[in-house]
Amino acid sequence: MSRTPDQDGILAVLIVGAGFSGLAMAIRCRQSGIGPLAIIEKGEGVGGTWRENTYPGAACDVPSHLYSLSFAPKADWSRLYARQPEIEGYLQDVARDHDLLPLIRFRTTLVGATWDEARALWRVETDRGEILARSMVSAAGGLHHPALPDIPGRGDFAGANFHTAAWDHGVDLTGLRVGVIGTGASAIQVVPELAGRVGHLTLFQRTPPWIMPKDDRPIPEARKDRYARVPITRWLERVRLFWRLEVPALVGFTRVSKVTARAEAMARHHLKKAVPDKALRKKLTPGYRFGCKRVLLSDEYYPALQRENVTLETGAIGRIVPEGVAMADGSRHALDALVFATGFDVVGGFLRAEVIGREGRRLADAWADGMQAYQGITVAGFPNYFILLGPNTGIGHNSIIAMIEIQVNHVLGCLRALDGGKRSIEVHAGAQARFVERIRRRMKASIWQAGGCRSWYLDGRGRNTTLWPDSVLAYRRSARRARLADYRVE
Ligand code: NAP
Repeated sequence: MSRTPDQDGILAVLIVGAGFSGLAMAIRCRQSGIGPLAIIEKGEGVGGTWRENTYPGAACDVPSHLYSLSFAPKADWSRLYARQPEIEGYLQDVARDHDLLPLIRFRTTLVGATWDEARALWRVETDRGEILARSMVSAAGGLHHPALPDIPGRGDFAGANFHTAAWDHGVDLTGLRVGVIGTGASAIQVVPELAGRVGHLTLFQRTPPWIMPKDDRPIPEARKDRYARVPITRWLERVRLFWRLEVPALVGFTRVSKVTARAEAMARHHLKKAVPDKALRKKLTPGYRFGCKRVLLSDEYYPALQRENVTLETGAIGRIVPEGVAMADGSRHALDALVFATGFDVVGGFLRAEVIGREGRRLADAWADGMQAYQGITVAGFPNYFILLGPNTGIGHNSIIAMIEIQVNHVLGCLRALDGGKRSIEVHAGAQARFVERIRRRMKASIWQAGGCRSWYLDGRGRNTTLWPDSVLAYRRSARRARLADYRVE
C-alpha cells in the first residue's frame, strides 16, 4: 500500500483511540509502510485509560518493564509498578518520538461506521464529520465507559459524587466524610490514598477481593543507568518478569486447581498477617475461589482499613439519600461526598458506536447472543474491520501489552493481504464459530466460571466473553499470524 494520501482522501487505515493499542497499531503500520493513516481520539491527549483514570493512587499492577511496548522501551521507569502520571507520560513520549501526533485528530468521537460494499470502504461517522477508510481498527478498549451502580436514589445525593474514572479534581475531599462504593482494582488503590486525607471514609463492600502483597519499590538509579547503558539487561528483566507472571497460567491458574489452592493459602496468610482483628478478617475473607475475580495486589489496603477514621460497611445498601447512604437494615451513613469505584460497562462500551457491516448487518445484532470475534479480532460480515482488545482477549495474570502486540501483528498480516489492490478481507463464519467453540469448551472448567463468583468478566447470561482462557503463549500461537485460510480475500 502507498504511504502517500489517496487522491480521493481515502485513508488506508483509520484507528479509533490513541491509547496503548492505537499507538502500537499506528507505529507498526508506519513501520510496514501501510498508509495513509489517521487516529481519531475522543479526548484531548493520548494515553487512553491512562489519561482518563487520574484518581488518587492510580497505578498499574503489572511491572512497568513488562507493561510497556517491546518496540518502545524505557530504561528509567521510576518504580517497579509505575503510577498513572508516569505511564501517561510514557505514552506521550511514545507518540512524540514516533511522530504520531500529526496523525491524531483529537476531540473527535466515533459515532458510527458503515461498510460501503460498492466502494469497499468504511464510511466512518464522527462528531466532526465523515471519514472514509479502506480498513478500520477499533483500539478503543473495553474499560472506559464508567458503570454507575443501579442503586435507588443515586441521583438524589446532595454532595459531590463521581466515578473513579471521571475523578473531579476540583473537589477538595480534605477533612470530609467520604463514601467509596466498590472494592475492585480501582477501589483498593484509591482507598489508602483517601484514608490519610479525608475526615472519615466509609467503604461499602459487597464482595471482598483476594489480595496478594504488591511489594512495590523505587528502581535504584544504578539499575536505571545499567538498563540505559546495556539494553540487554533491561530486556532480560522484561523476560524475567514475563515468565514470573506467565508460569502460573501454564500450570493451571486459569482453572480450579492445586495451584489456585496454594495461591489462596498465600493470600489468606497475607490477610492474617495484615489484619490481626478476627472479626474484620472474616469480613475481608472472600467466599469464592482465588482467581475467580481479578486478584489484586496491595500492601496498603488492609492497613488503611484499620485506621480509626475508616469504616468497612458490609451490609446491603438500601438506597442513596441526599445526606448519604441508607442501609437496607435502616441504619444510615452521613456523607459529604461519594465515590463510585464500580467498574466499567464493557459490552455497552464496545457497542456504543453503531457499526454496520455487509448487507446492513449491525454489530449489535451479530453480538445479540454475546460478543464474539475470531481470535478476538475479526467478525464475519464485517470486512476490513479489526478490534484490538476485543472479546475474549483480556487477561488477569500477565501484561495486556503482550496481547496487544500479538493482535497488532495479526491485523498487520490481514492488512498486508490487501496489498496489490485487493478489496476486502473477511473472516469465514466457520472459522469464527470453531474459534468461539474452542473458547467456550475451555471456559467451562475455568476459574471464572467454576470459581463461585460473579464478575465483570461474565455477561448477562453468565458467559465469559471478556477473558482469554489460557496463557499469553497459547494466544501467541493462536493469533500472532493471520492464517489466510480462515479468511476470504476479495
Ligand atoms: P470492578 O473490578 O468491576 O469493581 C467494581 C466494584 O464495585 C466491585 O467491588 C463491585 O462489587 C462493586 N459494585 C458494583 N456495583 C455495585 C453495587 N450496585 N453495589 C455495591 N457494589 C457494587 O471495577 P474496577 O475496580 O474499576 O476495575 C475494573 C478493571 O479495570 C479491573 O478488573 C482491571 O482489569 C482494570 N484496572 C486495572 C488496574 C491496574 O492496576 N492494572 C487498576 C484499576 C482497574 P462486586 O464485586 O460485588 O460486584
